[in-house]
Amino acid sequence: MEIRKTLPLFLLISFLASLSWPGPVFSQDEPEEAERRILTSRFCTVFYEEGVNLKVVSRRINLNFSSFYSLRSLRKKRDLSTEEILAEKLDSIFARVENILDMFPSKINVVINIYKSKDTLDNVYEEIFHEQNTADSFYIYKTNTIYTTERVINEGILAHEMAHCIIDHYFVILPPRKIQEMLAIYADVHLKD
Ligand SMILES: [Zn+2]
Repeated sequence: MEIRKTLPLFLLISFLASLSWPGPVFSQDEPEEAERRILTSRFCTVFYEEGVNLKVVSRRINLNFSSFYSLRSLRKKRDLSTEEILAEKLDSIFARVENILDMFPSKINVVINIYKSKDTLDNVYEEIFHEQNTADSFYIYKTNTIYTTERVINEGILAHEMAHCIIDHYFVILPPRKIQEMLAIYADVHLKD
């Protein structure tokens, strides 16, 4: 008797649950996704704020280091879009930093958030850390994200912050903060060797 009583109840509950379960809410997510400005490359996923000019960003990133293997292939290709050039530049810096550090963590991909102004960057920092921001750019391990702005971004800053990402993903036990910082500085100092 009890089994028969609980069985329909169970079925009723699962039926109700199936009604209330919203399922994959594509209709709600899609417009939001479309509004995001995203650029993806092998090593990076870039989110850029409205108003950020990718041409300016790409122009600010100079890759005149001699051992830059992709630059040659980049020059061979014509009619590349700004997005494609920027993606190649980011990947090249990332690969170069891996080589400088001699660290190659597997399946690594870093998020780069590019803001238009320092004010937005400061707000993001303050929201996360509840203290005033003093940096032009920073990397946060928890979010695996580099935070920077259109105004300051350059190859040196990217090399430094990418190094933080690579270091954090390479070591099982992280070295002390000062050592991490030394390694990241080493990467951006030797970027153009
Ligand atoms: Zn640093």
